[in-house]
Amino acid sequence: TAAMASEKEAALAASPSDDSPTIFDKIINKQIPANIVYEDEHVLAFRDISPQAPTHILVIPKLRNGLTGISKAEEKHFEILGRLLYTAKIVAKQEGLDDGFRLVINDGPSGCQSVYHLHIHLLGGRQMNWPPG
Ligand code: 5GP
Repeated sequence: TAAMASEKEAALAASPSDDSPTIFDKIINKQIPANIVYEDEHVLAFRDISPQAPTHILVIPKLRNGLTGISKAEEKHFEILGRLLYTAKIVAKQEGLDDGFRLVINDGPSGCQSVYHLHIHLLGGRQMNWPPG
């Protein structure tokens, strides 16, 4: 949140076992505003509130179905996982990221995850570096 000094602090404060609703439910339900760039029956994509690149979009499943993070993936999630990656590609194209882009999934405290509803970060519009921080 804005009160947190950093994304890393937010990540370390979040609980990896937390199964309660997240801020993303409110975005899905249109209870709080978000800059939505793609939506279908299964997937929502919206601009990150704290962009780390000129394009920074989060691609999420509308139904979390136990996917608090990628570490919780099971066979029952195969279809939605495919849809999320495919949607990231569609949105990258929509954003004109023809020279390349980056997809990131943070998982758990060490991975700097702060919201426990699976999301793929789509980052682009500048030269990325490696290794990431
Ligand atoms: P994580 O750190 O879990 O990989 O990513 C969570 C992301 O959600 C962060 O990049 C953060 O900026 C973003 N975020 C957190 N709250 C909100 C919000 O209310 N709206 C939007 N658009 N993004 C949010």
